[in-house]
Order: sequence, then C-alpha cells, then structure tokens
Amino acid sequence: MKIAIAGGGLAGLALGHHLKGSNIDFKILERDYRVGGLLKSETHQGYTFDTGGSHIIFSRDSSTLKEMVNLVGNVVMHRRRTVIHYRGNFIKYPFENGIFMLSPQERFEILLDFVNNIGKEKKKPENLKDFFVQLFGEKIVEKYLGPYNEKIWKRRIDEIAMAWSEDRLPKPPVEDVLRAAVGIETEGYLHQLRFFYPLHGGIESIARSLGEELRENVKVGNEVKGIKPEDDGIVVNGEFYDYLISAIPLPSLLKILGGDLEKLSKELDYNSVTVVGLGVRGNLPDYHWAYIPDKDIIFHRIAFLSNYSPNMAPENRGNIIAEISHKPCEEPREVIDKTIEGLEKIGIGVEVETAKKWVNHYAYVVTDKNYFKILPEIRKILKEMRILTLGRHGNWEYLNMDAVWKRAKEMSEVLRSMQ
Ligand SMILES: Cc1cc2nc3c(=O)[nH]c(=O)nc-3n(C[C@H](O)[C@H](O)[C@H](O)COP(=O)(O)OP(=O)(O)OC[C@H]3O[C@@H](n4cnc5c(N)ncnc54)[C@H](O)[C@@H]3O)c2cc1C
Repeated sequence: MKIAIAGGGLAGLALGHHLKGSNIDFKILERDYRVGGLLKSETHQGYTFDTGGSHIIFSRDSSTLKEMVNLVGNVVMHRRRTVIHYRGNFIKYPFENGIFMLSPQERFEILLDFVNNIGKEKKKPENLKDFFVQLFGEKIVEKYLGPYNEKIWKRRIDEIAMAWSEDRLPKPPVEDVLRAAVGIETEGYLHQLRFFYPLHGGIESIARSLGEELRENVKVGNEVKGIKPEDDGIVVNGEFYDYLISAIPLPSLLKILGGDLEKLSKELDYNSVTVVGLGVRGNLPDYHWAYIPDKDIIFHRIAFLSNYSPNMAPENRGNIIAEISHKPCEEPREVIDKTIEGLEKIGIGVEVETAKKWVNHYAYVVTDKNYFKILPEIRKILKEMRILTLGRHGNWEYLNMDAVWKRAKEMSEVLRSMQ
C-alpha cells in the first residue's frame, strides 16, 4: 500500500514514526522548508524562541508521555510554577486553587457561590459558559474564566459550542476549593503539574528528532496543491497513491479540493496566534508562565522560556514569549511595543536586547454552532475520496501534542490492518 501524508507537523511526523518498519510505502509532503508546524524554535543572538507559542510535554497517559520524552532524549522535568494576573497581583494557577491569595471578601463570595452550586441539578452543558459554571460556579467564571477565555477565543463563551470533555478540564475536588478558600495551599490540574521540556534546542527538538528518523520519507518545500480522487486511489501532486492522510489545516485541504467543499471551508472558524519573543537583560520572575485576563494588555499568556531550560538564553539573560490571540484577518499592529508596554503594566520592566514576532495563522479551532453540523458531513465526503484527516488542524479539533501522538498511533494501526 502506498500513502501520501500531507503536512509535516507533529501529526504527519508521528504517523510516519508509527508506520516506520511496516510494509506501507509512505511520503510526507511538507510545504515549508522545515518540518514541525507549530513545533518550531528559532535562535537569535543566543536566545531560542518557540515560535508557535509555549509548548510543554505532558500527558495523563504514561506510555504516550514516555514515548514523547524518549524522542527528545535530554529533557528537564519541572514542577509547574504558574500564575494568573488578577486585579494587579499574581495568584496561583488554577484560579480555584489560588483563591487563598484573594481578599477574605472575595474568598467568601466565591466559596458561597461554589457551595450553592454543588447540589444544583446539572443538565448536559450546551456551551462553554454552561460547562464552566457547572464545574466552578458563577463567580469564578465571572471573575476569571469568562474574561480569560473571551480574550483567547475572541467571542463570548456562551457562543462556543461544547466540544470540551471533563477530561480536558477535570472537576476540582470540593475539598480542594474549601481548603483554598480557608487559606490552605493545594494543587489543581494535576496531570500537568509535572511537565517535561527539551534541555537543548527548544520544543522543535521533537520535530528535529522525528524529521531525522524520517529523512527518507519527508519531502520539504513540497506544498500539496493538486488532489484528484480516482476510483481505486488518489492522485496527489501528480503521483498516484492508495490513500491520502491529510494533516494540513482542513480549510486548506477543502480549498485544494474546490467546488462545494471549498464553500464549506468558509464555515470553519478559527483563531490565529502571534508570538512575540523578547531576549532581555535582568531578572525575570521565577514562574514558568502567567495567564493575563486583563483587557488592556495585548497578550493573554506570557512564558519565561529561560525558566524552562537554562539553554534558552545566554547567561544572566531572560527569554520571554508572549502569545496574542486574534482573528485570522485581524493581525494586531505594533505587537512588540505593546508587549513591552503590557509587561510594564504587570510590573515586569525589561531591558530588551532582541525582539521578534511570528504569526501562526492556524492556532485555535473554534467550535461554533456549525461545527457539529458540518464536520461529520465533511469527513464522510473525504472518506469516500480515500482521504482521512489527522491532527489538530487536519482533523479540526482542539488537540494537544499527546492526543495528536495517540491518534497518529491509532491511525497507523488501522492502516497496517488494511494491507
Ligand atoms: C499557542 C499554542 C500552545 C500550545 N501548547 C501546547 C503545549 O504546551 N503542550 C501540548 O501538548 N500541545 C500544545 N499545543 C498544541 C500543539 O501545538 C499541537 O497539538 C500540534 O503541534 C499540532 O500538530 P499538527 O501537525 O496537527 O498541526 P500543525 O503544527 O499546524 O502542522 C500542519 C503542517 O502542515 C503544513 N502544511 C500546511 N499546508 C500545507 C500544504 N498545502 N501542503 C503541505 N504541507 C502543508 C504546515 O506547514 C505544517 O507543518 C499548543 C498549541 C498552540 C497554538
């Protein structure tokens, strides 16, 4: 069997990794001159920036985690030190575990609301707001989850259809919220409490390792432009294959296919993320990253990559990346100046040695009301054409690296069984 894999981001590479050693003849076609997609890092003046935003390696699935860590080789393991900028102060993340740092009045309001919420009858949540309110109560949503998520998603959270599972955001144990409210420190979001990061080279080390392993299969600088389904196979860029596995963004695939599918591509909503990298002098906070819900600050999250690995910056220097979410057609201007201004507003004054920005066109799939209606329809049509989709943007799902890795493994098993 011969297959084409479109896209050499993690999804395409992971599938290649899991197919290696089988009898399946496969080629990975990557548009860029380097594999990795969102998992790219660039070094400027001794600072290594992750250009697709802050990426850490974590998973609740221990074998997936092990496989991903093994790819990198030299890793640093961390216990998460993460904060939320809330009303001028930094409080512990997640918010429900950080309430011990709020004023007694706010703790009381949150606790009362949380307790009142416990016994309420819960129906299946229809949108992200309902989901959050059921898990955390109105007050936590009003104070933090609402503003933060609206900043990232660029729309009201009751306009986001429910595609998140409890798996993604586990229900906080009642005892932990009570402890936090009375001033006892607790930890939440436990499957991410410990995480791994490459010791050298930034998050791109994952893609580099896979690209090296698959060098005979990967064709970089090879944009998929032409796809022609046939009865017994599919022609991709003029070459015949039995199947096409598409790990390129779904709207791009649909545009290449044209006709009604191209029309459907316009119904798929998503956000972009611009990443600003700053190489700075001076001392940075000891956190790994911070969430910034404030409306008047351009970024929604900043990460201190020099706290992930000391090799991300020259000695006595700091490496900061800021993530700015925006609608694809509304690229923000003066992002570097506004990022430095935002840092000052939250009390992090920096002397900048180098600054750069990167725009990632596809970053967050938005699950609006169309999502559940048109996706099954699209996938059915594609399957009939011998096209299967994979990955965060290929399969159009909010997936982290571990889920992408697992899905690729499962798909490799299906493909092997089809021989
Ligand atoms: C800001 C941010 C932070 C994140 N943080 C984390 C984290 O901390 N931990 C975690 O586990 N996950 C994280 N993720 C998720 C992670 O980035 C993704 O799960 C993973 O990178 C998705 O890989 P992919 O291959 O599906 O997509 P992509 O990385 O988008 O790859 C798609 C590939 O297709 C190529 N391509 C596009 N068009 C064509 C074409 N026509 N022909 C050929 N090639 C084409 C692109 O060049 C690209 O290489 C984060 C995501 C974002 C946006």
